[in-house]
Amino acid sequence: MSIFAAIEEAFRCRGAESYGEGVSQLEHALQAGWLAEQAGASAALVTASLLHDIGHMLHRLPEDIAERGIDAQHESLGSAWLSQHFGLGVSEPVRLHVEAKRYLAAMEPGYFDLLSEASKLSLRLQGGLLNAAAARRFAGGPHAEAAIRLRRWDDEAKVVGLATPDLAHFRTAIERSAGPR
Ligand code: FE
Repeated sequence: MSIFAAIEEAFRCRGAESYGEGVSQLEHALQAGWLAEQAGASAALVTASLLHDIGHMLHRLPEDIAERGIDAQHESLGSAWLSQHFGLGVSEPVRLHVEAKRYLAAMEPGYFDLLSEASKLSLRLQGGLLNAAAARRFAGGPHAEAAIRLRRWDDEAKVVGLATPDLAHFRTAIERSAGPR
């Protein structure tokens, strides 16, 4: 199965599930990928944005786990899966997109207040704000900037009813960034 076919299959099976804020997993993914593309991001970062929550579609926990106080660690699952098919330019921003939220919530005045209620709830389960040492460590990493950009698109990609291109539109970006590095 090609990488695009595998991704299509994941969204066909699980994409209709609720992301939790009035949009489906597929809608959230397409909005994030579309925001990245419109911002002129690289094919790798567009792919990462589109697939940043693929971990939610790989595990078998129910949709409302955050409300039950469980952290699914979807960023680890997702990046581990992606690293089998893509280089670090895709898998690392995905692995770091939760830490980017913890970083921004700690470092950027006003960021926390702009988060949705669901994001505020999951932030607590994900360990809350980064402390100063962890924030320095995060910011010094080679993929921190990409993870922060992805995070901001993630936060915005929750518009109910927004029209976006479909999954096939992203095939070129996915296939261009597939393969090691
Ligand atoms: Fe997301």
